[in-house]
Amino acid sequence: MSDAAAQFSVAVVGAGLAGLSAAIHLQRAGVEVVVLEAADRVGGRTLTRSLDGQLIECGAEWLGPRHVRLRRLARSLGLRIEPVRQLGRPVLWRESAGDRVSRAFPPGMRVDMVRALGRAGRLARTIDPSAPWTGPGAAHDLRTVGDLFDAVDVSERTRHYVGAMMEMLSGTPTDQLSLLHLLWWIRRAGGPVRAFRGSFDAHIVEGTQAVANAIAERLDRAVVVESPVTHIAQDGVVALTAADDRTYTARRAIIAAPWHGSLQPTYDPPLPAALARLDELRSGPGIKVFGTLPDGHRPSHRIALGGPLVKGAWLLGQRVTGYVPPTVEAPDDAALVTELASAFGLRPEQLRGSAVFRWSGQPAAGGCDIGFRPGQLTRHGATLSASHGLVEFAGVERSSWPNNMEGAVESGQAAAARVLSALQR
Ligand SMILES: Cc1cc2nc3c(=O)[nH]c(=O)nc-3n(C[C@H](O)[C@H](O)[C@H](O)COP(=O)(O)OP(=O)(O)OC[C@H]3O[C@@H](n4cnc5c(N)ncnc54)[C@H](O)[C@@H]3O)c2cc1C
Repeated sequence: MSDAAAQFSVAVVGAGLAGLSAAIHLQRAGVEVVVLEAADRVGGRTLTRSLDGQLIECGAEWLGPRHVRLRRLARSLGLRIEPVRQLGRPVLWRESAGDRVSRAFPPGMRVDMVRALGRAGRLARTIDPSAPWTGPGAAHDLRTVGDLFDAVDVSERTRHYVGAMMEMLSGTPTDQLSLLHLLWWIRRAGGPVRAFRGSFDAHIVEGTQAVANAIAERLDRAVVVESPVTHIAQDGVVALTAADDRTYTARRAIIAAPWHGSLQPTYDPPLPAALARLDELRSGPGIKVFGTLPDGHRPSHRIALGGPLVKGAWLLGQRVTGYVPPTVEAPDDAALVTELASAFGLRPEQLRGSAVFRWSGQPAAGGCDIGFRPGQLTRHGATLSASHGLVEFAGVERSSWPNNMEGAVESGQAAAARVLSALQR
């Protein structure tokens, strides 16, 4: 079939931030797009709901100062970005010996952090942030973050808390997380202190999913929800088979559906071996748990860190949110709500409202963030930006910010730019 016969210039698969960023970039350049989304909503791993009249973020919530593409995109859509000054100390430090509230780190932890982060900061300078799997810094992919802790001899207590933070950020325990992944994150953020402090300093007032909703509104009928793509064939044009065996043809396609989602399309011709092998990289589904505080209840702290199920929890306004990483085995809702309430000095029945959101119920999104394990970045890094004939790929895992919305936007815009230049050839 000649490409002149295609229905659309570009078909995008997946209406998460990567797919929608690509689509709006193309539409603004005057290109006719269609976006096919498996779920009955747009937004992917951004999902805003409400509890007791307050917005709750079931997926992504925080922006950092270096998330420049996301900030620009949100502002271009008329959304408001607000600094969150409330997040911070005092912290409820939760450990087996008992809970303690303090503005300072627990004994010994500050010294450990200075040593570990100082070492990590020095090592991170050897990393190329756009391709960390190349150059001398790539050797750090053979070690884990746990190995770094061993090298600087940090205490069990520090491992407990830093481990909880790293698990929240990457879904992976420190003894299984590639040191290169941590160093990459530090390098991109501009140093260890900025990496830890600067990732969580703002949020989108209308809710993070509002970014996806606003783009979908502008794309209007170009977004087709409840349309899982099952097969992608290429023969001069790209033919995508979606729900009810409906076929969409396009001159180019951008696949912005994570390879670790449950709805993988088949390809004809099949994916080259290196692209097919990305399937080895997996991320598990985490859980968020929410509660609204009774009027007049003022917790003594703003963050709780290191709980047995809820590894981290934070207070914003009169709402508390906890995160349970994928490594925690199938806890029941009541246990989660009880732990969240107790972290803020309450019994569960004292919460005005509560909710639990499990990402295992959204299999197409492929879980939560990816944490690269030792050897994976050097083995797969170069393939992350590979294309397949007329098909380009996008998605946060293929970006230089593999755990942030910023990366989804970066990868979508980059794929759209590659497609635009191919269409103009
Ligand atoms: C609990 C949680 C907390 C997070 N917190 C933060 C945070 O605070 N700050 C931050 O910056 N980031 C955070 N993130 C990460 C951020 O949400 C993601 O990195 C980003 O949203 C991923 O966007 P994406 O477009 O690459 O993928 P996705 O959002 O997963 O979008 C992929 C889309 O493809 C669709 N799809 C899949 N298969 C098919 C198919 N065959 N056909 C059609 N459609 C298909 C899916 O339904 C989905 O809508 C968090 C994520 C989670 C889950």
